[in-house]
Amino acid sequence: MALDFVIIGGGPAGTQAATVAARLGARVTVIERDVVGGAAHLWDCVPSKAMIAAGAAFGDIGDAHSMGVQTTGTALDLDALREHIAGIVGRLESSGRRLLESQHVRIIQGSGRVAGPNSVIADTADGPIELHADAILVSTGSRPRVPDFAKPDGDRILTTRDAYPPRELPEHLIVIGSGVTGVEFVHMFQSIGSKVTLIVSRQQVLPQKDPEVAAVLEADFLRRGVRLYKGARAIGIEHTDTGVKVVCDDGRVAEGSHALLAIGSVPNTETLGLEALGIELNGGYVRSVDHHMRTSVPHVYVAGDISGKLPLSSVASMQGRKIAEHVMGLHVVEHRHLDYDKAASAIFTDPEIADVGLAEADAFAEGRKVRVTKVPFATTAKALINNDSRGFVKLVSDPATGVVLGGSIVGRNAAELISVIALAVTAGLRVSDVADSLLVHPALAEALMEAAE
Ligand SMILES: Cc1cc2nc3c(=O)[nH]c(=O)nc-3n(C[C@H](O)[C@H](O)[C@H](O)COP(=O)(O)OP(=O)(O)OC[C@H]3O[C@@H](n4cnc5c(N)ncnc54)[C@H](O)[C@@H]3O)c2cc1C
Repeated sequence: MALDFVIIGGGPAGTQAATVAARLGARVTVIERDVVGGAAHLWDCVPSKAMIAAGAAFGDIGDAHSMGVQTTGTALDLDALREHIAGIVGRLESSGRRLLESQHVRIIQGSGRVAGPNSVIADTADGPIELHADAILVSTGSRPRVPDFAKPDGDRILTTRDAYPPRELPEHLIVIGSGVTGVEFVHMFQSIGSKVTLIVSRQQVLPQKDPEVAAVLEADFLRRGVRLYKGARAIGIEHTDTGVKVVCDDGRVAEGSHALLAIGSVPNTETLGLEALGIELNGGYVRSVDHHMRTSVPHVYVAGDISGKLPLSSVASMQGRKIAEHVMGLHVVEHRHLDYDKAASAIFTDPEIADVGLAEADAFAEGRKVRVTKVPFATTAKALINNDSRGFVKLVSDPATGVVLGGSIVGRNAAELISVIALAVTAGLRVSDVADSLLVHPALAEALMEAAE
């Protein structure tokens, strides 16, 4: 008899787990209340990167004259952009659905909750459906955090979910929060023509990142006219006759046409019945999971943002895949657990920023001896051909063994190029392995080879 695997939440974690478990022979049901593909497709990764791509196209046209390309009359059509983004989301949702259906995964449109150790209820438009479950995965994701002082109205006071794009282009957007999401929105709106002010609660944008990397981004923001309110925490947002004003705890006030909240997220765990089952929550996140992502109830797994690990779509997908393998007993053969320290991540600003593994600043803080090599893209022919020689590759390795421990890249296509270092870090390759690879010329990746020499 096939094992019944019920998944609540069809984002990257849930859909990946469903695909792998179905392939391995489970009878899988996914309960999803919005769209297959999850918030990642509907609101987060996909629309934000589509907006950034539109801004990049806009900017490239503006810059093309220095390469001899004459252009006139460039303008941005917000309605067409909105339709373009809806089209991408729609295509991803239908291809995700088709993939699951081709593997005989049952998809129930509704809201799921755990009703007992082996029972899940899907509340649908036609009433509740009770499902038997031998294994349960809860992967219900998160939503934007809204502080008490703000009342998003989808018009002037926005969360990230109101912004793809808003009804009108903000003349002056005030972004509150300078983590990854905040800086991506600063870049996104500045590149399509808004004036932007960024409220930075610390003294550095991207406080979790390598200071050298953050400094490049700050310099770029200032060059592009972004106003930075450093060391200021927003404590109030008020409507004015012409827009909004954001009041900060140090007395400063930023006035603009719109405000956007980018201060983190809240896990969707309130109505799932987890606590009634004895699974403890901490600030809404599941308090503890083992390295197979099992909760204190061993056949109930959690994945994605609610697991309180790295809130990345890529991590959620990998967790989903590993859980499916564990549910189906594949962990008894060789099984590699997820190593969050080796997860690559990127920030889609201009220049892009990407990193993986050990950062130079962390090695320094730990007093660990490392070899750091840094090569600017300006040394490569491709950067000059692209007419964009900003940024660098930084490689961190073990001086005794040559094993690659980490790296960061700032520059065009950093999010793609970091894959090479991520592979080296995961596979335990040495710098000489990277240096000996025969790469394409001309290519930005040649800077990687040089850094590895
Ligand atoms: C603006 C923004 C941009 C981002 N960009 C990136 C990026 O470029 N790259 C990256 O790796 N990460 C990015 N992230 C993070 C990424 O979106 C999340 O880490 C990822 O979506 C988490 O996946 P998940 O499967 O946990 O949840 P989600 O994608 O949130 O999916 C959860 C699903 O569960 C459903 N659900 C919730 N409750 C229930 C219920 N009770 N019953 C049924 N269904 C339910 C929801 O409708 C949703 O579809 C971004 C985040 C934000 C906010």
